[in-house]
Amino acid sequence: MAQPTRAEVVEAELQRIIPILVVGVLVFLLGLFLVYLSTKATWMPFPVGVIVTLVGLGIAGYGGWQYLQLNNLPSYRAVCPYCERPTLFLAPPTEDYSCEHCHRVVAIEGGQVVPPMVLVCRHCGAPQKVSPRAKMFICDQCNGQNDLKPAAPKPGVAAAVAAAPDESIEYTTYDLVLVDAGHNVEEVLDILGALLAAPRDHCRGILKDLPMVILVDLPRRKADSYRRMLRDAGATAEVHPTGQYRPPARQERS
Ligand SMILES: [Zn+2]
Ligand SMILES: [Zn+2]
Repeated sequence: MAQPTRAEVVEAELQRIIPILVVGVLVFLLGLFLVYLSTKATWMPFPVGVIVTLVGLGIAGYGGWQYLQLNNLPSYRAVCPYCERPTLFLAPPTEDYSCEHCHRVVAIEGGQVVPPMVLVCRHCGAPQKVSPRAKMFICDQCNGQNDLKPAAPKPGVAAAVAAAPDESIEYTTYDLVLVDAGHNVEEVLDILGALLAAPRDHCRGILKDLPMVILVDLPRRKADSYRRMLRDAGATAEVHPTGQYRPPARQERS
């Protein structure tokens, strides 16, 4: 991140200040020892011990003063629109930053937080807060992936994309369904991570909930090549025309 958070600045400052404090204390202790020595040994003049002690105090004092200055660093609260927790900066953020708490990217325009869009997951219908920068989002509820480009509207679960596309684009696209991860789970996780640009933990979550539509609105060739990648890794994947796939009814265990 180009713009460091306040916590990052404080951390960097501490890295600089703590050695100063340590050196100051060590020099101070050395000075005390020399003062003590001058009372025992005649070759050690008393003023030398005093001077070293004072130098130690001076260095430690300088370090302490620098430490106190940290409290005077300016602080600006940028409240995350997703988790509503603040991230502190030295100045209002001027560019996108990732939230310290939920790690989502908060979009900044003109020094202001751009409010997230609320979109409806096309797989389960749950409303989700989505970054205006997002090209896709993965639903917190069902882990289904939603691409944010005009797609053939699906009856029932309508994708409430903010920028309602007027032109109905006629094209046939395909959804990639991961049916089974097979035995090479780690390799499949690698592929999922690359395909979804999602963290590994998230991909692991997907594997717990198969079968699942993992990518939607793909051109045929792309969908086929992704399916091949997954099959080569030992997973079972299927390609269905967008919106056509119906997962088998989940057996409810009670
Ligand atoms: Zn957050
Ligand atoms: Zn969902």
